Amino acid sequence: MIGYGRQLIDESDVNAVVEVLHSDWLTQGPNVVKFEKAIADYVGVKHTIAVNSATSALHLAYLALGVGKGDVVWTVPNTFVATANAALYCGADVDFVDIELSTFNLSISALKVKLEQAKLSNKLPKVVTPVHFAGLSCNMREISDLAQKYGFFVVEDASHAIGGKYHDSFVGSCKYSDISVLSFHPVKIITTGEGGMLTTNNDLLANKISQLRSHGITRNSHEFEFEMDGRWLYQQIDLGYNYRMPDINAILGYSQMKKLAQFINRRNEIAKTYNNFFVELPVAVQQVDNSFLNAHHLYVILCKDHLERKALDAYLFENDISCNVHYYPVYLQPYYRNLGFNDGYCPNAENYFSRCLSIPMYAGLQDSDVMKVCNLIKNFYQQ
Ligand SMILES: *Cc1c(COP(=O)(O)O)cnc(C)c1O
Repeated sequence: MIGYGRQLIDESDVNAVVEVLHSDWLTQGPNVVKFEKAIADYVGVKHTIAVNSATSALHLAYLALGVGKGDVVWTVPNTFVATANAALYCGADVDFVDIELSTFNLSISALKVKLEQAKLSNKLPKVVTPVHFAGLSCNMREISDLAQKYGFFVVEDASHAIGGKYHDSFVGSCKYSDISVLSFHPVKIITTGEGGMLTTNNDLLANKISQLRSHGITRNSHEFEFEMDGRWLYQQIDLGYNYRMPDINAILGYSQMKKLAQFINRRNEIAKTYNNFFVELPVAVQQVDNSFLNAHHLYVILCKDHLERKALDAYLFENDISCNVHYYPVYLQPYYRNLGFNDGYCPNAENYFSRCLSIPMYAGLQDSDVMKVCNLIKNFYQQ
């Protein structure tokens, strides 16, 4: 069975992890620092803070920006539930901005309209979290301009997009945002088993996030709230969590980072083959600005309608290709419906969801697998 996505682990990854298992440090230690530095150097950002998942990273991002009860966080419905859930963890409300049917990303025009309305009713968001869907960056400069104009923070959910670029800057560089969040779940571009990372250029945010990652504890005596003496001392100055990444996982990420550029190349090679092939077929694909580098976590095709998508999925599954759907609009999940959201709230996201199919896309996919997928889809449409 060929799935829609999977990790690519080689012997050097395995050996790196085994070496750490024989070392003194298993939990957060020197390899977390090495992994954080590798990502900071690659994407070009001042601070990187590794955590145990991107969900934890989103939670800490919102907390560090002061999100709490009475605040609203906006994101898109075309994302994994964690992007929105993390704001609910903070006691905030969540609202959704519709997507574009061309890029499957946040619609800047919908965002503008919603901001004008929110300004009139005095309900501007504290944070807007664009999601770089499938690895394609959103239009960050425009979002950043709106952030200046209306006064909100920007958190990039870049869970799909490490290794991708917005014009000349790598996703995660935070050139146009306060914080970016990366995921290292096995289906993402590189993996640590489970894991996430926050990136920021802001010293205060970085310090706050590092404390919250480990119980709100500091070991810097200049941050102590009263004087104590002894090299083993710490003070808890905030209410934090245990969101640490173990060194075992960090070394896997460090080893995977050496192959990031290669993974992105391979994913783009596969996307090119798919793009060329699908020109002849009645399916739509994600429209990419040529000055962006798409990290291609996913490759999504849009069928004519739900029935056609269902039939295509079943046909591929019979032929040992297991596709998936990204994403069911978050606000239509039962938990969010219970918060008051209804059908029809974001028409583009619903239209998109009814027709989308994520076909196989991962660095370890063989050319023969790619051609098998192409030919099956062609056969389906020529039946
Ligand atoms: C995977 C994913 C997350 C959550 O990542 P975890 O590391 O599994 O917690 C959040 N947002 C998006 C868009 C994702 O794809």
